[in-house]
Amino acid sequence: MRFRWIVICLVVLSLCAGCAQNTKQKAQQVKPNAKPEQAKILQNESTTPNLADGPEKVVRKPHPLSLADLRKKYRSTFILNGPSSKREVALTFDDAPDDQFTPLVLDILKREGVQATFFVVGNRIEAHPEIVKRIVREGHLLGNHSYNHANLPKLSDADFREQVIRTDRLISEYTGYTPNIIRPPYGNISEGQIQWLASQGKKIINWNVDSLDWKGLTPQEVETNVLAHVKPGSIILHHSGGGKGEDLSCTVNALPKIIKQLRDDGVKLVNVAELLDLNIPTK
Ligand SMILES: [Zn+2]
Repeated sequence: MRFRWIVICLVVLSLCAGCAQNTKQKAQQVKPNAKPEQAKILQNESTTPNLADGPEKVVRKPHPLSLADLRKKYRSTFILNGPSSKREVALTFDDAPDDQFTPLVLDILKREGVQATFFVVGNRIEAHPEIVKRIVREGHLLGNHSYNHANLPKLSDADFREQVIRTDRLISEYTGYTPNIIRPPYGNISEGQIQWLASQGKKIINWNVDSLDWKGLTPQEVETNVLAHVKPGSIILHHSGGGKGEDLSCTVNALPKIIKQLRDDGVKLVNVAELLDLNIPTK
């Protein structure tokens, strides 16, 4: 009899202890419908160790892919160079046309019999139609370099597309073809913009050799920047259109030597379409 009472007492005691434990656990849980202040107090009382590098919401901030990541992800659309199997390179000239440096670059290319690619800015086409006509007449390829040299990732979708479409129309007026190559100003482009350009059958043509001529270097520095880094399949970036205060005489002066050295090394100078086997109708 006494033994039975002892067992009953033990059971009751353990049930009470369980209830107390449950109540404690419940106090530590954050109820979904708890008021924010209440939830905060309960969290502060938690004995759970903190995550060493902080909560995920702080550490895992969404960040856009870098240009290098985008290049890897969209390899067939986002191009930096041609195949290394051919001993060919492409000279490209950005920010054209202007009426100061572009004619001088054209003179050299004509004299040397070199076909190049000019990435033209829409509002400069409007400002210098005669120079555009000359570029086309002398057999060079035109690519889209936006309407007013905007930093494209900062634009709305509508404004970005307007930059592309408006410049395409201007180019087609002079060439009879709508270019399927585009070089974004500063080389900058967002993932959504790459996807849209790809849906339009366009290729983004950046470069893997940068003359850095926009820095106002000496001709020798420009020459070294190109010749020290060039290899078969390279796409070389120069500028032929200067804005206010920009001096591109370094490129004008370095170009003959660059062309000579490449030719002496058995390299053929081609436009981007030829380098990449792209089907761009040219006149
Ligand atoms: Zn540019």
